[in-house]
Amino acid sequence: MKHFDVMVLGAGMVGIASALHLQSSGRSVVLVDRRGSAEETSHGNAGLIQCEGVVPYSFPREIDKIVNYAFNRLPEANLHWRAIPWLLPFVYRYWRQGSPERVAASARALKPLVERSLAEHEALIQAAGIGDMVRRTGYLRVFRTEEGLARQLAKEEEAHRLYGVRYEAKTPAELSALEPHLQGTFAGAVFMPDPASVDSPGAVGKAYAKLFAERGGQFIYGDARGLQHSGDQWTLASAGLSAREAVIALGPWTAQLLAQFGVHIPMGFKRGYHMRYAAPDGPKLKRPILDSDFGYLLTPEADTYRLTTGAEFARLGAPPTPVQLARVEPAARGILALGERLLEQPWLGARPCFPDMVPVIGPVPGHKGLWVNAGHHHLGFTLGPVSGRLLASLMTGEAPLTDPAQYNLSRF
Ligand SMILES: Cc1cc2nc3c(=O)[nH]c(=O)nc-3n(C[C@H](O)[C@H](O)[C@H](O)COP(=O)(O)OP(=O)(O)OC[C@H]3O[C@@H](n4cnc5c(N)ncnc54)[C@H](O)[C@@H]3O)c2cc1C
Repeated sequence: MKHFDVMVLGAGMVGIASALHLQSSGRSVVLVDRRGSAEETSHGNAGLIQCEGVVPYSFPREIDKIVNYAFNRLPEANLHWRAIPWLLPFVYRYWRQGSPERVAASARALKPLVERSLAEHEALIQAAGIGDMVRRTGYLRVFRTEEGLARQLAKEEEAHRLYGVRYEAKTPAELSALEPHLQGTFAGAVFMPDPASVDSPGAVGKAYAKLFAERGGQFIYGDARGLQHSGDQWTLASAGLSAREAVIALGPWTAQLLAQFGVHIPMGFKRGYHMRYAAPDGPKLKRPILDSDFGYLLTPEADTYRLTTGAEFARLGAPPTPVQLARVEPAARGILALGERLLEQPWLGARPCFPDMVPVIGPVPGHKGLWVNAGHHHLGFTLGPVSGRLLASLMTGEAPLTDPAQYNLSRF
């Protein structure tokens, strides 16, 4: 059996970054996954580093909007009706967290992580030598109606006043100047100048994993469900591993493993799809475009485009139902010259969410040496590196970058 100081279970963006930071703190670390690095949720997301994303997506409070969501009348969301009995406990807690006061509390908890997120990525990007993979051009939210634009501008102004988030209102002419290849008639746009984006989040994850290996870290294929505690060791017998401490960074699968240890956490999932499209003369967009009226995001890749959908409320392992993609694709083709679909089947991933939209980063009470870093919802690509730093500091006794109590598992 090979022995390490720490076993990190899950090689998504969160696990890889946790492993890198623990390694930098002098720990011997093994990274374990049943697949390769960054091949699940961290592969197919939209690739935005949302260093402006302080205010979380909250459950709507308007009755008409809730009814429209429930009956699948809005393109940005899809609900599996048959999953309702299973979804209700999470949805109820998510709804309760949607009051303005609670959303503000979540935003205050997210802010210390979100505002450091790009700097933490920049450090790893530089160390991994992948500066060419990153675009520092912000992103645009486009609107077809004055009403929708005004509503968003009011939200952005509030986020600016409370949390210092920067935004710029753009007229249709200014939007055309920024993105001359966008077609259609828009009332205007909101430009978020600070976020960065990448062509391929999976490639960035793999580059970080390569950095971990180059610095002496080990990656082992294995199934985390075999994790056991014996004496003062955490073991994964099938992979021949033992470690004094174990980190669960299994993204949407985190709750399943914790349940094996009698720890039940209120994790829900917002599933999402992506499709890639040919870009006949090369991608013309300079930055991601969020089509706010239809709730999807278009991202330029090296030679193609990627469209990612909004949220699907469903059981984690339920068969794919990419109806949202079918609903929004005509709108996307209306604003950009998209070529043919490049994937036989849409990619499907699941955003791991807690009701308050705040991740859990910290120890598992009652289980010595067991830690969790999970539940990063819409922001796991963004927050992986900064969450990894915070977790490593808690495990090694270094000064944490912020009060870690706000990310405790015991808050549930
Ligand atoms: C459509 C969509 C768009 C998104 N866009 C963005 C975006 O633009 N910006 C952003 O910041 N975030 C975005 N997100 C969210 C982001 O992708 C996730 O929050 C993030 O990838 C979660 O990372 P993770 O490391 O926690 O989980 P994952 O990447 O899912 O990693 C978990 C790992 O655990 C492994 N695993 C699971 N079970 C086992 C087991 N039993 N044994 C061993 N290994 C196991 C898996 O193979 C996987 O590698 C988006 C998500 C979706 C779905």
